[in-house]
Amino acid sequence: MEEMMMHELQKNKTEARSDILLDVQALKKYFPIKEGIFKRTTGYVKAVDDVSFFIRNGETLGIVGESGSGKSTLGRVILRLLDPTAGKIYFNGNELAALKQRAVRSYRRDMQIVFQDPFASLNSKMSIAELVEEPLLIQTSFSKKERKEKAIEMIEKVGLRADDRLKYPHEFSGGQRQRISIARALIMEPQFVICDEPVSALDVSIQAQVLNLMKDLQDDLGLTYLFIAHDLSVVKHISDRVAVMYLGRIVEIATKHDLYKQPLHPYTKALLASIPKVEHQQPIQQKREKIILSGDMPSPANPPSGCAFRTRCPSAFERCAKERPVLQDVGNGQFVACHLYTSTT
Ligand code: SF4
Repeated sequence: MEEMMMHELQKNKTEARSDILLDVQALKKYFPIKEGIFKRTTGYVKAVDDVSFFIRNGETLGIVGESGSGKSTLGRVILRLLDPTAGKIYFNGNELAALKQRAVRSYRRDMQIVFQDPFASLNSKMSIAELVEEPLLIQTSFSKKERKEKAIEMIEKVGLRADDRLKYPHEFSGGQRQRISIARALIMEPQFVICDEPVSALDVSIQAQVLNLMKDLQDDLGLTYLFIAHDLSVVKHISDRVAVMYLGRIVEIATKHDLYKQPLHPYTKALLASIPKVEHQQPIQQKREKIILSGDMPSPANPPSGCAFRTRCPSAFERCAKERPVLQDVGNGQFVACHLYTSTT
């Protein structure tokens, strides 16, 4: 309940509520743990646990967290590739979480996803033309000629040559393959794209090229992004705001400027400290308190009591084991879930 109040407070701080494209409210995705010969449910993996946030039209929200934080599950639940356990997903004011799969299909063309691994997400037996045209073939009544024209236009938009459409995925580098995935995601002219670690599988030298392309396409086509990454350096340039997730929950959310200049949650500080030194050349970052992340993330099937981060937090104190911190407004649109910033009641 408190989290939802904070969510409403965040929205009130946005200049125009009517600008909100995606509004996620108290979203949960629990996976049952089944044991024994009768496959009885003995517990739940709380992959996404009471997550609320919104994204404005044309904005990029970065979602960052280690593997197991629930960020990719969150993306799949928003697209209804997975059914939510509870919560609401408003897209353009329409509630999607309660819709049957058949009804969700009408929103699919407006909501697309670019996956991390272009090797796995592209069918190696299909030519680039077939891959890029396929969504049009399935979801529109365009003629063959129209599909071909649109595909060529999109293939060129992502920086490949029109002739490349006759080739197959294995004939391209990783970066080029990700460009093909992007072309396939954008061919339906979506409003909203979930980018699920789209550059993580690429060489560092190629990552910046693909990120720049995604930024250019966003400006050109008026796209709204939810950009998922496991490290804060990747989302820095492309995001307007950033949410940090830990064990299925958002622990801090702020504008990019505030989050990188003045991170508050010990986990955010640790993630920033783990960015390689070359990224840390600004004086402001050199002055920042260094928190080194140690130990593994606990199992989401059996999270610690109180604050889920307490087993790795160098600032943990008694209250942290007893009480789960909720997101609190610390000003300027920066929200943090940590007892260091909350008063005792
Ligand atoms: Fe650390 Fe306590 Fe804050 Fe959790 S609530 S991040 S354990 S200080």
